[in-house]
Parts: sequence; structure tokens; C-alpha cells
Amino acid sequence: MSNPPAKRLKTSDFLSTIAEQRKETANNILEFKFNKKRVRVLTESDEVVPKSKGILYWMFRDPRIQDNWSFLFAQKLALKNKLPLHVCYCILPKFLDATLRHYKFLLESLQEVDKDCRELNINFHLLLGEPHDVVVDIVKKYKIGGLVVDFFPLRKPRFWLSEIQKRIPKDVPVCQIDSHNIVPCWVTSDKLEYAARTIRNKINSKLPEFLTEFPPVIRHPYTTDQKLDKNEWDTALDHVLIDRSVDKVSWAKAGHRGGMAELENFLNKRLKLYHSKRNDPTADALSNLSPWFHFGQISVQRSILEAVKLKSKYKESVEAFCEEAIVRRELSDNFCYYNENYDNIEGAYDWAKKTLEEHSKDKREYIYTKEELEQGLTHDDLWNAAEIQLVKEGKIHGFLRMYWAKKILEWTKTPQEALEWSIYLNDKYSMDGRDPNGYVGCMWSICGIHDQGWRERPVFGKIRYMNYQGCCRKFDVKEFVRKYGAKVHNKKSSVFKKK
Ligand SMILES: Cc1cc2nc3c(=O)[nH]c(=O)nc-3n(C[C@H](O)[C@H](O)[C@H](O)COP(=O)(O)OP(=O)(O)OC[C@H]3O[C@@H](n4cnc5c(N)ncnc54)[C@H](O)[C@@H]3O)c2cc1C
Repeated sequence: MSNPPAKRLKTSDFLSTIAEQRKETANNILEFKFNKKRVRVLTESDEVVPKSKGILYWMFRDPRIQDNWSFLFAQKLALKNKLPLHVCYCILPKFLDATLRHYKFLLESLQEVDKDCRELNINFHLLLGEPHDVVVDIVKKYKIGGLVVDFFPLRKPRFWLSEIQKRIPKDVPVCQIDSHNIVPCWVTSDKLEYAARTIRNKINSKLPEFLTEFPPVIRHPYTTDQKLDKNEWDTALDHVLIDRSVDKVSWAKAGHRGGMAELENFLNKRLKLYHSKRNDPTADALSNLSPWFHFGQISVQRSILEAVKLKSKYKESVEAFCEEAIVRRELSDNFCYYNENYDNIEGAYDWAKKTLEEHSKDKREYIYTKEELEQGLTHDDLWNAAEIQLVKEGKIHGFLRMYWAKKILEWTKTPQEALEWSIYLNDKYSMDGRDPNGYVGCMWSICGIHDQGWRERPVFGKIRYMNYQGCCRKFDVKEFVRKYGAKVHNKKSSVFKKK
């Protein structure tokens, strides 16, 4: 990683400096040596269909224009074949436990993408429905000669992609790019990695090759002569079947510009504290970037390129940020991609399954219902404060997230229930939920994945334990509890007494 002198700028300057960097890298993607290892051709055919009328990028995990290898590759195909460029995004009737909070964040950012695409003479299509129906329709309607897709290791997106492949004309090549990870998931490793220590070197040793600057997506020179449907922004949410009671959060401004402003803020104000204060929930030291990373609105690669410029000033913080945002995050994708049971106990290691099973009948001192947990009505004011933070702000501080999930294991009837409910709450309320990091975070806390066995104790068995006193030793618990107005509720669970 290079390490030029640190200089921080205003947001508009920050964005224009980055735009300049892209231009200095290459005028456009045709003049840039695209690393072919980023691309997987998923079809037998690998040539753009002759006499076709456009290239389509089905954007799903990485809905941003700049700093996006998928977008760049789609433009490369379109420029090479002198074709118009189309981009589509599908608004799903439902996606896991996403709520209005997430759909609004998504939709606002897509409006920004649409506007920016228009300025670049790129056709953005807002589609309503399941991808394996509506993307296929667009491929046929616009006589698409090549399809570019994002990589997303979760079950549902993989299903849609395999259906799309079956339903589009056989001669249309499908190219997949991993624009979410710096090193493509399949390049890092071809197997399930055991822990951070087994993947770290596999990723870090490839960074000189993959952690490069991006060239720009440019104004597209080829215009479609086909009629485009109007994007129905005002009614897009009318058909979705989501929980509308969980509304948007005020602190996170949707879209690429919102995310880049947060990145700039982090680099200017919080990065210096990241190394020493990131495990203190009362300190403002984290990047807070996970909503934009999860939704693909800003590029992790761009964030790292900008952070490493400050390495001479804040070496330990930059290294810690790289460890989290590169190694830990890409490890999560590895887990979900190579383990089909990424969100259930079957996906745990044998030692963990055995120990959880052996302790499944242990007496629990407290047992709460899903509703009691959701409303933060436990005997533990710190846990309740974390839950209030989740529900109100759509985020729990990274350190407390571990405590939060481990207590769910301690206070539910079975580890299966604990895992199911922690994933449910995380996916429903957290801005960054429904992400490989979320499944891995819950699986780490409750079933010890990527961890080791610890001293055996009731309920947890050999799964790593955390307690209230430990938190008191680490940070000012009272201050955190006060901030969220949390209280102590039930002394003993009513549910447990009834059993
Ligand atoms: C029970 C539990 C649930 C979690 N659920 C999610 C989730 O739904 N979505 C999510 O993105 N992360 C999740 N995490 C991981 C981590 O807590 C969050 O990524 C982090 O708190 C996000 O805040 P930040 O962006 O300010 O983090 P920072 O500390 O500023 O980190 C920067 C980035 O590094 C990555 N990162 C940080 N910590 C981890 C980690 N432990 N594992 C993998 N990547 C990491 C994230 O992309 C994050 O945005 C979970 C962890 C636990 C224990």
C-alpha cells in the first residue's frame, strides 16, 4: 500500500480530488488494464452477441457508479462493442427481514444513481419484482448482448442468478464481478477458511495486485434508439410486503455522496481514535460506514485507499481499520460462500455443536420471549441500552454487538432459538443487517465460528463468554445506559417459571 503525505479537504474537494485521481489513473476503462481475475464468465458463451442492442449491468450488491468494478466492466464491454449501456436494479417485494428503514435508504440512493446515470448517458431501469422475472424481461426487451452481475454469497441472490442464467437466451454471456471485496472471494481462497489467521495472509499477500486505483466511469458515447420505460419512483414502495413500522434513521444520509461525507468525517475526526478507543461504546471512534458498505453505496476499496494515505500519522489505527474492513469482512464472505449453513447451527464446527448440545438442558437463570427481547425488557440495563440503540438508531456499537448476541444465548431456551432471534433482530433493525458480516457475527457469538473453545461453563459450554462486570472494566457502562435511558426490568423470567 502506498503512503503519500496526509492532507484532508472539504467534502466537495474530497470528491473532486478523488475524481481527479481516477482520471489520472486512465481516461476511461478501455485505457486501463482490467484485471481478468476479477471476472468470472458463468456461461458457455463468452462473446457479446452480434447485432445486439446493448450491454446490461444487473446491479444488486453494489449500487454505485464510480469505484465499482462491475460498472466499469459493463462499460468496457459496451465501449468495445460500440453499444448503449443499461443498468437495472430490482426492488424486491421482500428481502429477508428488511423493513421500511432499509427500503427508504436503498431507494433514496438509487434516485441518486438514476440522476447520475442520466448525466452519463447511461440508461437506468428501476424494476419492480423478482430478478429472475424482471431482469430476464429487460434482457429480451432491449436485445441485450452481454450481462454483467455482482457477486453476493447469500442463498437468495445465488438462486436468482442461477434462474436468470436458465431463462435468458443461451447466447448471452453472463459475467460476474466481485466489486464488494478487494480481493475477489474466489481468488482469495477456494475453500472454507477456519479463522482470520488462516485467511489473513491469503488476502494481504494479494493486496498489491488488487488494491489499485479505479479509472472513471465516463459519459457513455452510444445512445439507445429504443424507448425507455419511466422509472416509477413515487409508487415503488406501494407493492412491497415489508414491515412499515420500522422507519428510517436520521443519522445516515443515503447514497454515495452521503457515504463519502461519512468517510471523510471518519478520516478527519475519528480515525485517530480507532486503535485506542474502538472497543469503548461511549467513545465516537468507529467509522460508522457499515450501512453504506452493506448497501454497496460506497466502495470499501476506495475507503481503504483513502485511509492508507493517513498511515504515516495514524499507523496503528489504519492497520486496525484495514484488519476489520478487509480481513474480517472478507472472511465473512468466505464463510457464507463456502458454507451453505451460514445462518444455522449446522454450520458450526463439530466441537461447538457438541458443546452446545451437551449444555442445551442446563438451567437458564433467565429466559425471555422474543417480544421481551425486542422491547429491551430484560433485567440487564446494559443489554436493554444496546437493544434501544439498535431499534432507534439502526446500529449497535461493534463491541456491544458481541455482548448483545451472547446474552441472547444465555437467556433463551435453546442455541437454535438464540441464533434465530439474534439474526431476526439484527436483520430487522440494523442498517447493515442481512449481510454476511451479520450472519458471521451472530454465528461467532453463539456458535463460536472463527473462534476457539474456552473454559467450559453452564449454558455456553466452551463458547466464549462475556459478562456485565467485564464490560464495566472496559468502559463506563453507566454512561452508556444513561445515554439510552435504559432501565432494569424483569427480575426473573415469567416464561421460565411457567415451565
Ligand atoms: C452479533 C453481531 C452482529 C453483527 N452484525 C453485522 C451486520 O449485520 N453487518 C455488518 O456489517 N457487520 C456486523 N457485525 C460486525 C461488526 O460489528 C460491524 O461490522 C461493525 O460494528 C460496523 O460498524 P462500523 O462500520 O462503525 O465498524 P468499524 O469498526 O468502523 O469497521 C469498519 C468496517 O469493517 C467491517 N467490520 C468491522 N468489524 C467486523 C467484524 N467483526 N466482522 C466483519 N466485518 C467487520 C465492517 O464492514 C465495518 O463497516 C456484527 C457483529 C456481531 C458480533
